[in-house]
Amino acid sequence: MVSRVIFGRGSFNQINDVLAPKRLNSKAPFIFLIDDVFKNNSWLTSRIQLSYDDRIIFISSKEEPKTEQVDELAEEIILTSKERPSGIIGIGGGTLLDLAKAVSIMITNDGEAKDYQGWDLVKNPAIFHVGIPTISGTGAEVSRTTVLTGPSKKLGINSDYTPFDQVILDSELTKDVPKNQWFYTGMDCFIHCIESLTGTYLNTFSESYGNMALDLCKQVFLEDHLSMEEAQEKLMMASWHGGMSIVYSQVGIAHAMSYGLSYVLGTKHGIGNCIVFNHLEEFYPDGVKLFKQMKEKHCIALPEGICSDLSDRELNTMLHIALGLEPLWENALGKNWKKIMTPEKLKALYLKM
Ligand code: NAD
Ligand code: ZN
Repeated sequence: MVSRVIFGRGSFNQINDVLAPKRLNSKAPFIFLIDDVFKNNSWLTSRIQLSYDDRIIFISSKEEPKTEQVDELAEEIILTSKERPSGIIGIGGGTLLDLAKAVSIMITNDGEAKDYQGWDLVKNPAIFHVGIPTISGTGAEVSRTTVLTGPSKKLGINSDYTPFDQVILDSELTKDVPKNQWFYTGMDCFIHCIESLTGTYLNTFSESYGNMALDLCKQVFLEDHLSMEEAQEKLMMASWHGGMSIVYSQVGIAHAMSYGLSYVLGTKHGIGNCIVFNHLEEFYPDGVKLFKQMKEKHCIALPEGICSDLSDRELNTMLHIALGLEPLWENALGKNWKKIMTPEKLKALYLKM
């Protein structure tokens, strides 16, 4: 679990106080990995005090994190720092949070990031790492994984060393998120809840967090009485609880299929989940009904027919990536999932999307 959390509007102002006691020495810098959407945003960056060799690296979140990108960043940081850094601070959405987690692991572990995609393969503790979300929904701020696309798979580095040592939850940082992106990333949280709560891996720990997150999502996306600030705070906590819920259970069909879309078409996680979930009423009837109400209420139009021009080879890769995520299918459909979700059935589903 994340060992330290600060919550509150404006709490980002505490960043320098939080980091100061963690500085190892003047040669061991803090490295800030920040979404480049904040590049000319002095409202955010002017509050970060850079001392000694501390530096900011702005990174685009246009594409989701890749193992190669993590290796390059870790190498660059090692080569350009006099000593091993005091810490890595990720500021942004799931993309930047995952990059910060993965880079902090690769600074203390040999080899390449792709060697650690899987469960509990990381050998050495990561360096101190801090997560500061600027958009709510993925739960990446609380989870035990960092999802990376590698040469042969899209899979997380799941380990006890992955979670952040410190998280700052300041909902004010989410105030300028564009509406569509707010919906897509917010729906990632909603889908985490549905997949966790209806899954066969469910246990009371996950259920209690899942129910809290689901209730918050319903308030944010279906009710009208919340102020902007309240809605931002509630979605930030929904993201956290939704993430906690899947830490001890698993996601399901929408995530397995969305990983396939992402691998072949580069479709991003939030929108990919929405495109898929919209067609999963057979498996999640209540969840999909609620999803459609939310989509309508916020006037969100999703792309259609995105798989119709794929070659057989591309479709087969998509099936291979999605069906390779066995725990997700087993969670959704039980031990005999292979009898229910055959490659033919999955292909037909993709072609509907
Ligand atoms: P993102 O980080 O890719 O950001 C989406 C867009 O929102 C970007 O264009 C970004 O620049 C913009 N943005 C972010 N904050 C903003 C702000 N305050 N104002 C204006 N624009 C802002 O999106 P995401 O949906 O948060 O993350 C998706 C990633 O998270 C995927 O790579 C996915 O694999 C990963 N993920 C990880 C976990 C996990 O547990 N580790 C869980 C779910 C998803
Ligand atoms: Zn997700």
